[in-house]
Amino acid sequence: MKSSSRTAIRGAALTFTGDPFLEPSASALRYEGDAILVMENGLISTFGDAPAILPTLPDDIEIATYPDSLILPGFIDCHVHYPQTQIIGAGGEALIDWLDKYTFVAEQTFADKSHASESAEIFCTELLRNGTTTASVFCTVHEQSADALFETAQIHDMRMIAGKVLMDRNAPKTLQDTARSGYDQSKHLIEKWHGTDRLLYAITPRFAASSTPDQLELAGALWREHPGTYVQSHIAETHQEIDWVQELYPDRKGYFDVYDHFGLTGPRSIFGHGIYLTDEEWQRCHDSNTAIAHCPTSNQFLGSGLFNIEKARNAERSVPVGLATDLGAGTSFSMLQTMGAAYQVARLAGTELDATQALYMATAGAAKALCLEDKIGTLEVGTEADVAIIDLKSRPIIDYRMQFAESIEEQLFVLMTMADDRATCATYIAGNLAFERE
Ligand SMILES: [Zn+2]
Repeated sequence: MKSSSRTAIRGAALTFTGDPFLEPSASALRYEGDAILVMENGLISTFGDAPAILPTLPDDIEIATYPDSLILPGFIDCHVHYPQTQIIGAGGEALIDWLDKYTFVAEQTFADKSHASESAEIFCTELLRNGTTTASVFCTVHEQSADALFETAQIHDMRMIAGKVLMDRNAPKTLQDTARSGYDQSKHLIEKWHGTDRLLYAITPRFAASSTPDQLELAGALWREHPGTYVQSHIAETHQEIDWVQELYPDRKGYFDVYDHFGLTGPRSIFGHGIYLTDEEWQRCHDSNTAIAHCPTSNQFLGSGLFNIEKARNAERSVPVGLATDLGAGTSFSMLQTMGAAYQVARLAGTELDATQALYMATAGAAKALCLEDKIGTLEVGTEADVAIIDLKSRPIIDYRMQFAESIEEQLFVLMTMADDRATCATYIAGNLAFERE
């Protein structure tokens, strides 16, 4: 982490002290109407009620004040493909055809390192513009695509999880590795990047249908050999994909069982989608502490289906769930818009989701899904100082609407329904100002 001088900010602030799916939202939230947050050497050193803290601060400390805003932990995007930034909004297909027609064409351009670096810079800059400070990122099959993302995230000092995609079948030849080369390249990337500054490595089989059993076997071995690294992939996104995976793995009892068989489930594994997980699979996610990334804008865009939040966050057998954009099938970098889409998906599925729960899945709950809750997703003292400042009046109509909001919960509802990237006033990474709205 880069050293930083001391930075202090003041404004209304909100963080989580509990899980709003397991206890009433009001008791899971810590809201400070007038807070001071001091960031030193990359960490939050002081957080609390401004009138109480001000007398304890040195006279010469500069305090940046953010009126009509909300100081939040930086947003966390649990599943996103940076090489697909160039194909957002490429429409008209369902998952498998969308991959063939757009994704696999775009991803071939990442053989060129300079193109990858350019894309990585646009991607990281866009995250910061949206107040997103951490993401779990799929690169392409090319080793250099992961280098490009890690190098860029390192320059921005971001806590970033990423990995080179493993894919040794059912993709264009130019996008395939082999079980062996995928293992070797991933191992090389782990040695180079995992634990370097704020970077973490995720072993990244694209999905069960694009890896042979040999590749998944070696991916599981690699994970066991490198404790602390992550696994990320996709699961149960569409019926067509599920049927295909069952055909390719006839001996396995469903999609989850494929990954489980190869030792790819458990803490620090996170799977995108999970729309069609069976009750038994939800139970196995719970038992193994396997996390799911809920990608509502992507599921809407591809027409994949409606994620069932009540099955996922059922208090009796709760599964860790983080929100995710899943760009480029996802349609927005904004976690506020992603929260809004999660709310709409929950309504369409006949389930309940409030704004506090949605925000939890974009901050503290996402950190928990990534086993990083002691580091990010919170404003508590001692954690890493990644912070988003969200404008409560970013557009005239939001300003007007907020005048009628009677509680912080209602303000959050308005933000998730109406706000987007324009609401990001500032983003701090490890205590340093990384983005400021003009
Ligand atoms: Zn995805």
